[in-house]
Amino acid sequence: MKRTPFKRKLPAAYVKAERISPVYARLTVKVNMPRVGDAVVILPKEDIVRSEPYRRLVAARPCINCHIEGYSQAAHPPPTGKGIKEDDRECFPLCCIHPGADGELVPGCHADFDNYRLVPASDVRALAASWGAQIRKEIRDEGKWPKGLPHFEEQTALELAS
Ligand SMILES: [Zn+2]
Repeated sequence: MKRTPFKRKLPAAYVKAERISPVYARLTVKVNMPRVGDAVVILPKEDIVRSEPYRRLVAARPCINCHIEGYSQAAHPPPTGKGIKEDDRECFPLCCIHPGADGELVPGCHADFDNYRLVPASDVRALAASWGAQIRKEIRDEGKWPKGLPHFEEQTALELAS
C-alpha cells in the first residue's frame, strides 16, 4: 500500500477527548462530566470551535443580506443561552454601520439582524443556520477552508454518533 505524505486528521472531538481524558483520570474527586466507559464524552456545546482565520474569511465576503462589500463582520447566530458563544463555523457575513444611499449612516444588517429587524425572533435561528451553511459551502467550494479546521458536518455527525 502506498503511503500518503498527508497525515489523516482526526476529527476535533476525538483530539479534544484524548487531550482531556488524562487530566480527568488524575482527578480523585467526582467530576460532573458524562462518561461512557473511560472516555470523556464531549457535549456538543463544549465542542464549539473558534477560528480567527475562518472569521476573517467570512468577514472578507460581501454582506449575505444586502450584498454590500467592504463592511462585513462575522456574525454569529443568537446565543442559545448561558452566554455561550456559537461555533465560528456557524458565522456569516453581515454589514456593520455604513453610509446608505443618501449618504446618511445606516445601522447595517448585523445590527438589524441582532435586533430582529431583518426577521422576527422566531425565524432568526433558521435564517442563521441556512446562511451559515451557505457560507461554509462557498468557502469550501472555493478551496479556502482553513487548514486544520474540522469540517462542520463531520463534527456534527461524530457528535451524533457518540
Ligand atoms: Zn448588509
